Amino acid sequence: KRQAIVAANWKMNGSFGLVTEMSQGLADLGLSNDVSIVVCPSSPFLAALTDAFEQEKACEHISVGAQNVSEFEQGAYTGEISVSMLQACKVQYVIVGHSERRSLFKETSTQVAHKVKTALDAGLVPILCIGESEAERTAEQTETVLASQLQPVIDEVGIERFSHIVVAYEPVWAIGTGKTASPEIAQQTHEFIRKFLANASEDIAAKTPILYGGSVNAKNCQDLFAQPDIDGGLIGGASLKVEEFKTICSAA
Ligand code: 13P
Repeated sequence: KRQAIVAANWKMNGSFGLVTEMSQGLADLGLSNDVSIVVCPSSPFLAALTDAFEQEKACEHISVGAQNVSEFEQGAYTGEISVSMLQACKVQYVIVGHSERRSLFKETSTQVAHKVKTALDAGLVPILCIGESEAERTAEQTETVLASQLQPVIDEVGIERFSHIVVAYEPVWAIGTGKTASPEIAQQTHEFIRKFLANASEDIAAKTPILYGGSVNAKNCQDLFAQPDIDGGLIGGASLKVEEFKTICSAA
């Protein structure tokens, strides 16, 4: 059985107040170890969140993730954050290639592949985001797009290292729109992703967690998580509301 994971992507939201509220809220969730919870705040809150989880005994198993990482090790890259800085904040996961990074900040799949390698080399678990736009789905380009986002990563790090990668399928048309993919469409696409990985290694494909992201909320999470190839979720807006996020964690 694959590890179920629920990850919170706060995006450019949140505060020290939410760090406290979230750690206190998750402390009384009482989840079994079957579900891994990862919370990804903006960089200024990373260290505070790892501290807060360490201080709440019940949050010891909850991980902290960053939302991005530089592909460079160190040096004159103003505004960038390195893997060693994330390690210093005791971060264990990092979201890589989120569609907002790809579209708004022009990250290419090649760059994304470099970032995945940088993260893996540092012992961080990359949450590799892939997904098609509405126009691409309408044009029946979904599988081609997903393949073009996955292949550079397979080429860069090799399929074996997917045993330390989490994939997140986030259809761009479902992000922040309230328009969730139906459980059927999500399952169909997850199945394609797993088959694509299986072409490189069946064994790895069977073990790689594939999360769904895009307008997941307390109401639709159960049906999505019930699908055989959906191993959890990457939650945006709903992860800023402590009670709703807890409900979603409990459904995984
Ligand atoms: P929403 O849950 O707000 O649609 O965002 C999804 C997402 O992009 C998570 O990374």
